[in-house]
Amino acid sequence: MTIRELRPLIGGSFWSKGNDFDVFEPATGNVIARVPDVGAEGVDAAVAAAKEAFGNWSSTPPKDRAAALLAFTDEIMARVDEFAELEARDVGKPLEKARAEMASAADKYRFFAGACRTMLVPAMGEYKPGITSMVRREPIGVVGAIAPWNYPMGMTAWRIGPALAAGNTVVLKPTQVTPLTALLLGEVAQKFFPPGVVNIVTGFGSTTGTHLVRHPDVAMVSLTGGTDTGRSVMRDAAESIKVVHLELGGKAPVIVFDDANIDRLATTLRSAAFGNSGQDCTAACRVYVSKKREKDVVDALASMANGIKVGNGYAERGIDMGPVVSAKHHEFVSGFVDRAVKNASGRVVAGGPIAGPGYFYAPTVVDGVEHGAEIIQKEIFGPVVAVTTFEDEADAIAKANDLEVGLAASIWTSDIERAIVAAGRVKAGSVWINDHGPTAAEMPFGGYKQSGIGRDLSIYAIEAHTELKHIAITHRERI
Ligand code: NAD
Repeated sequence: MTIRELRPLIGGSFWSKGNDFDVFEPATGNVIARVPDVGAEGVDAAVAAAKEAFGNWSSTPPKDRAAALLAFTDEIMARVDEFAELEARDVGKPLEKARAEMASAADKYRFFAGACRTMLVPAMGEYKPGITSMVRREPIGVVGAIAPWNYPMGMTAWRIGPALAAGNTVVLKPTQVTPLTALLLGEVAQKFFPPGVVNIVTGFGSTTGTHLVRHPDVAMVSLTGGTDTGRSVMRDAAESIKVVHLELGGKAPVIVFDDANIDRLATTLRSAAFGNSGQDCTAACRVYVSKKREKDVVDALASMANGIKVGNGYAERGIDMGPVVSAKHHEFVSGFVDRAVKNASGRVVAGGPIAGPGYFYAPTVVDGVEHGAEIIQKEIFGPVVAVTTFEDEADAIAKANDLEVGLAASIWTSDIERAIVAAGRVKAGSVWINDHGPTAAEMPFGGYKQSGIGRDLSIYAIEAHTELKHIAITHRERI
């Protein structure tokens, strides 16, 4: 089925300038759409429109901003089939998973719509005699929001939901790899937001992305992407001292103590490690276990991985896992496994590459590597779990914390005291006990160390999209 033409929304109209680039379907390798790289000209027009729209949108009462966000969300859900089909084809995920992503995105928009009506600040009062202080939370201005390809609709909700709810206007740059649902989102946004409040600029990081980050009229940049991209965005944003909000890479440790329930671990990692083809910043990808339980864990994970049905989940029902997102990414993922076998005495106990067409890679479990091996140390962002060992509790925590990233972790034990103490010691923004992966709109999400700056979701995400202003009034009698 051909995909109808979708164009970027800029200043309330659809943009047709810029060199078109190809968008590939990962399950077939075919080109399914061509989308413009709007480049500097498109970004300039979008930022100018967002700047113009900021005055009215920022002074729109929260209840009316909430109403617009809720109506926008209802329309997304009324068109959920259209969104899910586009997402499934663009990213390669099974249709049911794409549908679930839409529901999750809708939940986030609805949360932010409600939460912006209950923002908190310290109580107004006299903190110095004769001076009354009050605090305002104000939107920051134009937010340049940059999204990745793993959950294009999901991550867009995390990026633009709090920004819009707080009264900012946005220029959203979806990734060039999977830009289609963001373009469809532009069609919905055009109906529910005044022109310029939501703008979508498609294109490459090196063209559209850098121009957006460097634009002097962009007051804040928020990015979900890789750690190297975060570094580059931070450098570019430094020129005009923009607010930066970064949700970056991860490499989640899974610490399995001897008293853990291994069946439950394997069942959970079916989705926590291999859901979305492992292309998840919190993917459970490095498993630490004692020598004593290593075989039990490896056998359970291998048997679970072998039971996952891989295929084109857009064309066929009952598929658990699709391909990885691109030919380039397939090569990237394969490289890690190949080098682990060649250089780090890794043993592939399940999985490996699957012949094309399409960029399929089977759920893979690698055993026998040391903690220092590349496959343990670097983010793969694919369906690969590596298992290694620890000596004791202190060694497990030290190894979990040894990497430069700290986004998420899980601890597996039936001893609640040990779990709580270990959870406090692991340096990560989310720590799950006897589970791995659940997030909630009300709870903060974000990274320690090089996994990012700031928190997504929760009231803290809205707060991150505001400036605080102290207004003080000195009483006549004091002068
Ligand atoms: P990426 O960093 O390659 O790209 C992310 C976005 O940044 C894209 O839109 C890209 O075009 C843009 N970009 C790239 N270079 C840029 C530059 N110099 N200036 C401005 N924009 C630029 O990431 P990806 O491959 O799309 O996604 C995978 C990465 O995202 C992984 O590292 C993953 O861990 C991370 N991620 C993090 C979270 C989180 O919440 N922490 C969530 C999902 C994904």
